[in-house]
This record gives sequence, C-alpha cells and structure tokens, in this order.
Amino acid sequence: MFVGVLLGACGDDGTAQVPDGSTAEGTADPSASDATTESTAADTSSSGPVGESSSTTDPLPAMLEYARGLRLVRLAASQGVQIDFTVDGLDVDPADYPVRFVTGRRTLVRAFWSLHADFTPRELIGRLVVTYPDGTELVYDNPAMVEGESVDSGPSFQWLLEPAQVTAGMQFRVEAFESDPTIATGELSDPPPILPYGGRVTVPLLDAPLEIEVVLIPVLHQLAGCEQAPLPTDDDVLAMAHSLEQANAIQRAVVSVGEPMPYTDPIGEQDMGFSPILGALAMRREQDAPAPNVYYYGLLDSCDGFPNGLLGQALGIVAAPVPELANQRVSTGRWLGSGEAAAETFVHEVGHSQGRRHVTCSGGEGGPELDYPHDNGRIGVWGFGIHDFKLRSPIKSRDYMTYCANEFVSDYGWEQTLDVIEILTGWNDRDHAPTEPQVLMGIVHDDGQAVWWTARGGLDEDAVTDARVVWTIDGLTHEHAAVRSAMPDGPGTLVTAALPPGFEHASAAQLEVTGRAALAIAPGAVRRP
Ligand SMILES: [Zn+2]
Repeated sequence: MFVGVLLGACGDDGTAQVPDGSTAEGTADPSASDATTESTAADTSSSGPVGESSSTTDPLPAMLEYARGLRLVRLAASQGVQIDFTVDGLDVDPADYPVRFVTGRRTLVRAFWSLHADFTPRELIGRLVVTYPDGTELVYDNPAMVEGESVDSGPSFQWLLEPAQVTAGMQFRVEAFESDPTIATGELSDPPPILPYGGRVTVPLLDAPLEIEVVLIPVLHQLAGCEQAPLPTDDDVLAMAHSLEQANAIQRAVVSVGEPMPYTDPIGEQDMGFSPILGALAMRREQDAPAPNVYYYGLLDSCDGFPNGLLGQALGIVAAPVPELANQRVSTGRWLGSGEAAAETFVHEVGHSQGRRHVTCSGGEGGPELDYPHDNGRIGVWGFGIHDFKLRSPIKSRDYMTYCANEFVSDYGWEQTLDVIEILTGWNDRDHAPTEPQVLMGIVHDDGQAVWWTARGGLDEDAVTDARVVWTIDGLTHEHAAVRSAMPDGPGTLVTAALPPGFEHASAAQLEVTGRAALAIAPGAVRRP
C-alpha cells in the first residue's frame, strides 16, 4: 500500500472516528458510563465483565421493578462488526444480518432506549440474560445513567461477554429495571422494556476453530557498512496480533517472530518496489516449509530508505484457499518503529494474502473490488475493537483494504475472509512433508527486470490465459502455461508456471505472451531455495 494517499485524500472527513471518551460518548466500555475509553478498557480486559452477573439454572428472584418512562427499542451486538437484532422493537430477519459471529470471541451487547417526554434522568439497570442450550443462564446486570438520547455513538445499556461466554446456540434477552424504585417516575411502557418482547434472539455463531498464523521475518538489511533490522518486542508482536484479531473473524492470531533474514541489496535505491524482497521472503518461506495456512510477513527497516510512497506490498491476491497457492502467502511492509505503527499495513497486506482486493476510497487503489457495497470505502456498519474497545462510525471509518485513514473492518471484509479463515485453520493438523519444487515463480517488471525462484505448490489453473514459459532442455522444447497477475500496491506482475523435469539443465527459457517472446529467463538466475 502507498503512504502518499493517506494525507487527507479520503472523502468527507479526516477526523478520528471515535468521539472523545470523557463521557459515555464513543466508548463501548460496559463497566462504567462516565469513564474514559482507555483507562476503563484496561480494567475491563483484565478483569472481565464488570457488573452483577451470575450463572444459574435456578429461577431468579424477581426483585427488581421494570424501568418506567422508557422503551427499549433496539438490541445489537458486535464482535467487530455490529448486528442489529431488534430495530424499533421489531425483530430483524436473520437473513438480513450483515455477518455471522464466531464462538469464543469477545462480544459487546448493547440495548438502546427511547424516553417518554416526562422521563426523569436517573440510573437504571440493564439486564442481559444469556441462555445456553443446556438450560443455564448468564444474568448480567449493568447500571447506566439514563438521560437523553441513546445512540450508537453515545450512551446505551451495554454488556461485554468474554470469549468463554460466547458459545454455540446462545440466545439473548435484555430488560431494563429501576435501580431505586423509590425515585422512579412516569408510566411503565407498553410493552414493558424487554427485548425482544416475548422471546429471545438466537445469536448466529460459526462454531469452528478460527485462527490466522503469521511468521514475522525481520529483514536484516546489510548495505554499505550499515546493518539494521526491526527488533520486535513481545508488546510489538501483541499489538500486531491484536490488530489482526480486531479486523478478522477469529478467536486468535498466532503471530511469531522468525530468524532475521539477511538482505544485502538496496531497498530504497532501486526501482522494483518490494519485488526483490518479496522474492527473498518467498524463498525463505520455501526453506522453512511451514504448513500451507501460514502467512509470512517481512518487517522492513531499511539502510537506504524506501521506494517512494510504498508502505507495503503483497506477492499476490491469493485466488483461492487451496494449499497449492500457499506459495503466494507472502507480503512485507515497513516497520515504522513499532508493532503498533506497523499494524495497519500488516493487516492490509495479509488481507491480500487472504484473497482480498483493494476497496476504492482515495482513488489510488489499483484493481479494486467491484462488488464492495458501501460508497467511498466506508465500513458500512458500526465497528467495535475487541481489544481497544473503541467504536468506529460506519461513515467515517474505511475498510482496511483502502488507502484511506481510519481503517477498520467492514461487514463485507469480515464475511469475505471468514470462509478462507475456516478452511486455512483446518490445515493446521495436516502432515506437510515438503515436496519437490513444482512451479516457477517470478516477479516481472515492465522494463524487463525480474526476480525468479522455484516453489512447492501449483498455480491457479482457472487464471491461465495467453502466457506460457518455454524451456529448452537437452535440445528439446518444453512449454508450460503461465498465470500472470498484477501485484497489488506496487509495480510488478507475478508469474507462475509449472516446471519441467530437468529445468536445472535448461540452456534457455523464455516467457511468451500471446505467442510472442516477452522476456528471456536466464535459467541460472532462477533461484532454488
Ligand atoms: Zn494493497
């Protein structure tokens, strides 16, 4: 991705998406309505849900009186992307939910009110009742100061469920009670403040292991007496993992740091973008031979600067979640001094490796997704960070596959990657003995510069069109169909083609497009991991 377009080229705002958290506005902290986002977020994450909660199979004593002078009008929950279950008192058709949730993931539940004209501001108790298939109930009471309008960006009743509380088949019901009936005023609404009235909503949960595994490779740049590499600390790694977890429908991101990769060519003072580094990282992935679900991400802290404006780059937009294309699950980006600073580019580039295309916002995004449903790359629905506890406006926040600021996950992006994540997570347990090299891979530039290497795996046969690689081996000609795809974020075309036996002894090789010679490949320059 490019840095240049982050400078205010993004449509209708450039402002922070979260209102100041000195009041309940903009915070999603369920433990207190009058505290700041940051301080209470830490409390909440370390101690779990705050408030009166109990889990029991026994009937609860009905000690509380329903709140008067108020209706509950909307019930919503978020694991990053929000689902509205009940709107204006009416249940939403589950077919219209924008996303699925996943089990074992932190979940924010919110209920919004409307007030009668004569409502007297006071503290009320919001109760969330979570019912599980075995009949157990979690009863979770949280007070809220009720005055004025209840909106997504502002006050609501809210409850935070920790991962162990989010299990298959769970249902929600919410109610509002008086904290102190002696000061209650007004009439009880009809129906009383219960959502959904007369029932429960079943939470749509995908119940499967869902993980993303990434190996970070610090690139040890050695150039003209300079030697440097990013040195990620545990906190840096955690920040990157948390960003990935906030943006993807997973239970956890497994992020580790591999051995630094020495790299002795220029990074900034050359004109191939990050192609040569991506080639080196792809070969490193081949040497390490990880399971096919594993993503490799190079961390860059260069001796000689960077290609102009380039923040990060992925080897390709991986066309399908098949093990044969694992050889493309490679990307890289600038370190920028910390895991937190590196995280935004990291999430974007891993997104390409998951198969995501760009989303148009700044206009600088090449090869955009044509089916994206929201204008200007907006995320479209309210967002919620399961680690930073911040809410994101559907209008002011942009999909992380744009080049705009205020990046977060959209409903579209959440669902687009979910099936890929489920399939890749299932590969964790497979036996992955490395096989012989099967494909030639390369990055080709318009000026004829290229990087070539060999890799296990295959190519996307559906994408074969008019290109082929022609080898001359022991006087015989071997032709193999090639797939060419434009690389996201920077210059270069990724080329993949099957390898003939004995290619090591080839006297010549050539990339041909529409039957004409496009580029000579020096067989000796094809690097083998
Ligand atoms: Zn990109």
